[in-house]
Amino acid sequence: MADAVVERCVAHIASLDREPACGDVDAAELCRSMREAAPEQGVPLEPLLDRLFTEWIPRSFTAPSPGYLAYIPGGGLYPAALADFIADTTNRYTGVWQAAPALVQLEANALDWLRDWMGFPPEARGLFTTGGSMATFNAIVCARERHLGAEIRRGVLYTSDQAHHSVLKSAKLAGVMPDRVRAIASDDRFRMRLDRLEAAIAADRRVGLTPFAVVSSAGTTNTGAVDPLDAIQDVCAREAMWHHIDGAYGAFFYLSEDMRGTLRGLPRADSLTLDPHKGMFLPYGTGALLVRDGAALRAAHEATADYLPAMPHPEDFYDPSQHGPELSRGFPGLRVWLSVKLFGAAAFRAAIAEKRALTLDARRRIAALPGIVIDAEPELSLFAFHLTWPGASRAEEDQATRALMEKTTQRGRVMVTGCTAHGRVLGRVCVLSFRTHQAQIDALVDDLAAAIEDIRTHG
Ligand SMILES: *Cc1c(COP(=O)(O)O)cnc(C)c1O
Repeated sequence: MADAVVERCVAHIASLDREPACGDVDAAELCRSMREAAPEQGVPLEPLLDRLFTEWIPRSFTAPSPGYLAYIPGGGLYPAALADFIADTTNRYTGVWQAAPALVQLEANALDWLRDWMGFPPEARGLFTTGGSMATFNAIVCARERHLGAEIRRGVLYTSDQAHHSVLKSAKLAGVMPDRVRAIASDDRFRMRLDRLEAAIAADRRVGLTPFAVVSSAGTTNTGAVDPLDAIQDVCAREAMWHHIDGAYGAFFYLSEDMRGTLRGLPRADSLTLDPHKGMFLPYGTGALLVRDGAALRAAHEATADYLPAMPHPEDFYDPSQHGPELSRGFPGLRVWLSVKLFGAAAFRAAIAEKRALTLDARRRIAALPGIVIDAEPELSLFAFHLTWPGASRAEEDQATRALMEKTTQRGRVMVTGCTAHGRVLGRVCVLSFRTHQAQIDALVDDLAAAIEDIRTHG
């Protein structure tokens, strides 16, 4: 069975650059026809693999495609799948340290590597989560416990109007209702406005509320904007508030020396969301959280039960279940550990630097295309733009920009998507897959140019 599966997977990877970057996802009929009751008897593997690989897998955004420049690209490093195979086959229990001490140590090592790469201090502790959303949720729980205790309703959380929607959702899950979340206006570069942040904090204090946390962005999903992290940290220090940075998209750019100025202040945060399934190219289901004061992470999640083995000494050994909400779980640390051991940190740094260089090349060439206006410069590896022409109204520009993304994607070689920011439809390009290289940027520029030509002649 393993041979049959591996053969299909390897063939699939080998075919990725020939497959459309966006599969046919107009599949409502297909999905209706797929509904079925649980089978009473088992069936052989081959026909199941057949349908998966020929009918169902292709009907999707080809997220691992080299031409996937939409949303925030992932990739999916193949050895991580092998790590999962080992973890699932050996099925050891990595929720508590005592049950698999050496394996849990590997996970602790991987978290320490993230900590060191992000410039966090030795007392910081981390947690592998299923994604960035869960990491931010956990961070808000830590901030709430530290600053509000039982007085949850008084607490106010601040983020920007460009923040990822998971911030509002995480706040709500953590007991901070939407009427206690302030979306601070962003400036013309889509960064949180400090003056507005300070004014909002002061206004809430005046009416007796308790400002307790700011969630800033190290790279927004819309346009890649990096909030003034250092200055926000100063505000939080002065106001005795928790500063969480959502680095789900951008944190791994801190690996690149050239990006440290843009991300200045990142290592000072109280906590940081990072998504190895984005900036480390791992398969989906790999998020991470770092908390500067490891004791705060532990305090928020510590729990014991009479039937569990005695907990290790907190300073000595890392215990996943004492630092996060889960008890039984998979073994996410092995994917990260195996990938870093196999390729080395230098390979990840080089890949991040390459994505940055490709982005600058794409930006320069796309800005030169007829009618393109750059609205958001690439601070990391994402930029945004719109299409215009003399006499165009905003509504016409919006429609044309949307059509530009669709027509470019329809050509099959790259997939790009848009967003709406500050009331305008923007096209966007995000370069983050380890499979994306110069050839895909060349294809992107050619296909955008052809799509612009098409829109200009046919409307
Ligand atoms: C992707 C993303 C998230 C959400 O992370 P998930 O891993 O999808 O849960 C949050 N913030 C930003 C900026 C993102 O790009």
